[in-house]
Amino acid sequence: MRIAMIGTGYVGLVSGVCFSDFGHDVVCVDKSEGKIARLERGEIPIYEPGLDLLLTRNVEAGRLSFTTDLTGAVDGADAVFIAVGTPTRRGDGHADLTYVMAAAEEIGRALTGYAVIVTKSTVPVGTNRKVREAVAAAAPEAEFDVASNPEFLREGAAIDDFMRPDRVVVGVETPRAAEVMEAIYRPLYLRDFPIVTTNLESAEMIKYAANAFLATKITFINEIAALCERVGADIKQVSKGIGMDGRIGNKFLHAGPGYGGSCFPKDTSALARIGQDHAMPMRITETVMQVNEGTKARMVEKLRDLCDGSFNGRTVAVLGVTFKPNTDDMREAPSLTIVPALVGGGARVRVVDPQGRREGEALLPGVAWHDDPYEAAQDADLLVVLTEWNEFRALDLGRIASAMATPRLADLRNVYSPEDAASAGFRSATFVGRAGF
Ligand code: NAD
Repeated sequence: MRIAMIGTGYVGLVSGVCFSDFGHDVVCVDKSEGKIARLERGEIPIYEPGLDLLLTRNVEAGRLSFTTDLTGAVDGADAVFIAVGTPTRRGDGHADLTYVMAAAEEIGRALTGYAVIVTKSTVPVGTNRKVREAVAAAAPEAEFDVASNPEFLREGAAIDDFMRPDRVVVGVETPRAAEVMEAIYRPLYLRDFPIVTTNLESAEMIKYAANAFLATKITFINEIAALCERVGADIKQVSKGIGMDGRIGNKFLHAGPGYGGSCFPKDTSALARIGQDHAMPMRITETVMQVNEGTKARMVEKLRDLCDGSFNGRTVAVLGVTFKPNTDDMREAPSLTIVPALVGGGARVRVVDPQGRREGEALLPGVAWHDDPYEAAQDADLLVVLTEWNEFRALDLGRIASAMATPRLADLRNVYSPEDAASAGFRSATFVGRAGF
């Protein structure tokens, strides 16, 4: 199969590289000349574990290339994937389809023979039909089908998720498009994974429903955690106790500072808008969005309490600012609420993050970046564990506490136990959903 992948961000690049590893011929296209120039030099513009090796292997095998020339890439392709961004539209919470529709038009103008135009981007119900209209308007004579193929990979584990998916969802309208999609994913059949074939609307809906459900699950446990703190229950035990029920499942039950990232905030917002547009308000999702904002704000108050009511003049060391470990992605990270509150409150903030600095420097003005958690904690008044990178999971807490001016710990990921913190010499500590001291 010959594949053109339009957009080489987290999803497009990982999908393109993995498809080439299946044995397909893949050309990855991006508008950003800088991104393409780096990829041509073998550099990866994002941080995603394992991607560099896989990319090099497939470039060397002659199956994978990069270009800014969409027309050349589409010429002769069996399938053209649209994997461009669908951020929240400024002002109204809808998904911004500008990039998707622009790509559809460009693809239409470039089509030379039959191809399936596959939307991988997360798009509101009805968008694939609009893509079909845009392509047909740009190329009235062209022979093509559209397909919806939402992506479920997680940043940080993207390659494994792509290669070993729980399921692949394909929305199609014609047997011919179904055949092409089957040929593309056939290498996965060896591993016996389920493919869910649906119409276009159901495939589009599956993606939003999945993300809204996961955001709800996280937010539910965060709200239960807040109550645990008031009533003397321990969220770790509560999560374990409910997660062992097969109907609930133990994933996504880790209480923390609120969800962030490039998907949950924008996809819950878009689903809420789709509901409003169809006079069917998504009340659970709308509440989840509000509770999540409240969760982030609650974290700021926990930190303020630990600092005896004021950040002014305090030195705070923050460990981790990306929205989760193993990614450099800072989009909608809880740190973007919490760190500015510290800086705005007059704290001197030191930040350590294994991959977050490149993105984070512009987003978090007024902080000092450090490479080493021990150095950042030296003479500090508060240590905040905000993202649970492996590097922060086995710190020598005793060494840190004794180096701090006032040993206070805010572990917003519950990596450490209150007992660990107390025996290491911390004077006070706070956790999420469990008693601090
Ligand atoms: P991204 O912003 O990292 O990348 C998008 C890329 O598309 C950019 O490099 C941009 O330059 C390029 N682009 C835009 N218009 C273009 C055009 N006309 N021609 C060529 N290139 C163009 O976005 P992402 O995080 O990869 O997300 C892409 C889509 O996948 C979104 O709809 C997102 O919701 C969805 N998604 C993302 C994830 C994730 O974990 N990031 C997971 C599942 C689904």
